[in-house]
Amino acid sequence: MTAVAASRHRADLAVGDENLEAATFAADLLAWYDRGARVLPWRSPPGAHADPYHVWLSEIMLQQTTVKAVIPYYDKFLRRWPSVTALAAADLDEVMAVWAGLGYYSRARNLHACAKAIAAAHGGQFPHSETSLRALPGIGAYTAAAIAAIAFGERATAVDGNVERVVARLFAVGEPLPAAKPKIKRLAARLTPLRRPGDFTQAMMDLGASICSPRSPSCLVCPVRAHCLGHARGVAAALPFKAKKGDKPQRFGAAFLAISSEGAVLLRRRPPKGLLGGMLEVPSTAWGASMPPLEQAHADAPLPGHWLPVCGFVRHSFTHFDLDLAVYRAGNLSRTERPAACAWYPREVLQDEAIPSVMRKVLKHGLDPR
Ligand code: SF4
Repeated sequence: MTAVAASRHRADLAVGDENLEAATFAADLLAWYDRGARVLPWRSPPGAHADPYHVWLSEIMLQQTTVKAVIPYYDKFLRRWPSVTALAAADLDEVMAVWAGLGYYSRARNLHACAKAIAAAHGGQFPHSETSLRALPGIGAYTAAAIAAIAFGERATAVDGNVERVVARLFAVGEPLPAAKPKIKRLAARLTPLRRPGDFTQAMMDLGASICSPRSPSCLVCPVRAHCLGHARGVAAALPFKAKKGDKPQRFGAAFLAISSEGAVLLRRRPPKGLLGGMLEVPSTAWGASMPPLEQAHADAPLPGHWLPVCGFVRHSFTHFDLDLAVYRAGNLSRTERPAACAWYPREVLQDEAIPSVMRKVLKHGLDPR
């Protein structure tokens, strides 16, 4: 690619991985929350701070448990112990008995220990900062951030599995979990606004619970669809990537399906030695430990063009590693452009060429998308 073509090509690119506009994102999300926040017994209406005791009790109960299962227990606890000092004065056996049926009983023991610590060391008042909350028994990073933001309006970012999924999709994070956790946390913190961080936290929870669901996100009705790179690239449902538990490493890359104005396909001959030596391939980026960000991937495109993502991924298992390939397609290209080691092949001859299965999958995915 010439320097002029390369710069024209780069100018065509969509926004980069971290260019999401935090202020307008928060405004859109909060407007949606104001219109239809879930009504839950521990919540205050949008715009108001909630009671820290209510937030804490619900967050501890909600760990590993659904909202539906928690509500009757939450109500029972509040009726019995309307404040943290009342709970601190209760007998542990009594607390365990009321908790019975909710499971994960260490949570009930920690709940009681935490109430006692707040009564003894903080005069019965929850400390306000994320750091001091984190120091209390049974309060982890997520719960501390949730209480600080929702009850005290601190700009703290609570990241659980739901929020992790939403953020990974918003930024089309290419690295698999768990390695991507610090990056996702940093991106989530960047999105959290100074104003209404508590409502923002609850709005992210609602979005993850109701719209940006694990298997089939409802992007068409999503209030932040305009900001979402995962949706724009057609890869939302596949995110976040997860590292394989087995001993086969996972690799990622992007393949570029160039189609001429006559319908011919650009293929590249692989070097004679090494994996798939001498065979034909759809030109791709190197295959690495994470999905290349869009700009980096496009810089490796064989030709300048209007590269559009094809929805979904091509998955292939080699003997020594598994591969996920994102596929980009550009049409109406001129056959006079022919990058090194590449040639144009009419579609009708493809079946007779030495094309390995992984590349046949790429061709099928890009030429005949469902
Ligand atoms: Fe999730 Fe889709 Fe909304 Fe993106 S557009 S945040 S993937 S529901």
